[in-house]
Amino acid sequence: MLWNPDLETLSREQLTSLQLERLRHTLGRQLERVPVMRERLNAAGVQSAEDLASLDDLRRLPFTHKTDLREHYPFGLFAVPRHEVVRIHASSGTRGKPTVVGYTRGDLGVWSEVMARTLAMAGVTRGMALHNAYGYGLFTGGLGFHMGAELLGCMVVPISGGLSQRQVLILEDLGGQVLCSTPSYALNIAQTLDEQGVGLERLKLEVGIFGAEPWTEQMRDAIERQLGLKAVNVYGLSEIVGPGVSAECIEARNGAHVQEDHFLVEVIDPVTGDVLGPGQEGELVFTTLTKEALPMLRYRTGDISSLDVTPCSCGRTTLRMARVRGRIDDMLIIRGVNRYPSEVERVLLRVPEVAPHYQMIVDRPGAMDELTVLCEAKTTSSSLERHIHHALREATGLSVVVRILPPGGVPRSEGKAVRVIDKRPG
Ligand SMILES: [Zn+2]
Repeated sequence: MLWNPDLETLSREQLTSLQLERLRHTLGRQLERVPVMRERLNAAGVQSAEDLASLDDLRRLPFTHKTDLREHYPFGLFAVPRHEVVRIHASSGTRGKPTVVGYTRGDLGVWSEVMARTLAMAGVTRGMALHNAYGYGLFTGGLGFHMGAELLGCMVVPISGGLSQRQVLILEDLGGQVLCSTPSYALNIAQTLDEQGVGLERLKLEVGIFGAEPWTEQMRDAIERQLGLKAVNVYGLSEIVGPGVSAECIEARNGAHVQEDHFLVEVIDPVTGDVLGPGQEGELVFTTLTKEALPMLRYRTGDISSLDVTPCSCGRTTLRMARVRGRIDDMLIIRGVNRYPSEVERVLLRVPEVAPHYQMIVDRPGAMDELTVLCEAKTTSSSLERHIHHALREATGLSVVVRILPPGGVPRSEGKAVRVIDKRPG
């Protein structure tokens, strides 16, 4: 079902014209209201919104980085007076200050709209019971799904993350049909079901909408098998709006449709900054087209993906982005070789004896980097360690230390999973 058929099926010509109009408006506001941005744009030779003759001129605009938000913490990049900001969210700063983002009432309206589209795209309809296990609070996951689900008319269960036994009880008693959480937390719930002896026949789950961390097709298979639902992938980041920037349709589940009337997407070479064509993998860059409180011009996400402009069987005309392969920040350079945690995940989840929980530890005990992969076995087998070691070497070219832990041995998270711990000096 399409939540907004008019805007989700625009012709490319209509969409481009709408995007240009909105981009000019956004640029005009930046020039007028955000001194830091005005200086930067002027330095790049952009004096007015009229300098943009076509969408190709987007390339003339400078990039915005996460460090810009930190440098102008907390409100330096806001484009509206403080009294127009009705909501604040923040991303967890792993080091230093968090990144603070703000929303006007209009921004919350747009966010609710794109989240209602996201849910409708996953096959969610009015009246369904939606179990929202994304974290509520400064993190955008909980409230983002919450607003979209209410707009769509779901019965929202705002349980937030954590307390897995309680999740299972509520899921069963309230008949949750839609599960929203991070993929790693979905697996925690599955494990708790198992431990509590709650069979899938006692649940009413139909569909799960998972995101906020990179995951693989192998993880999708594991979640679907263990929870008896269809899993779709959703993408977003607080700097752009939160969840709802793009999402998969249930019909094709082959790339996430970008809400292009609100977010303009580019893929660039992360080193040169050059814009890449469809199908070429690089860093995702988003420009907000309707955001009032905190507009973003060419925001570098650090996420690695590619764009697909071919038509989709669901009838939407928006382009799709491939599953995020990883974050540039998460990319590990181990003995000079670039590696993403997702490559390890793909290997582990193909081994039937291994549970879908893992963690990678990188260290440098001597002169050489050492990668240790922690995973859990479902059954004991003496050759399992050797088998995984071999499979990882085949897939990554690295000799990896494999440690098999008893069930529950890999640390669990209630939100985004911590996949990599880098203990190397420096
Ligand atoms: Zn589609």
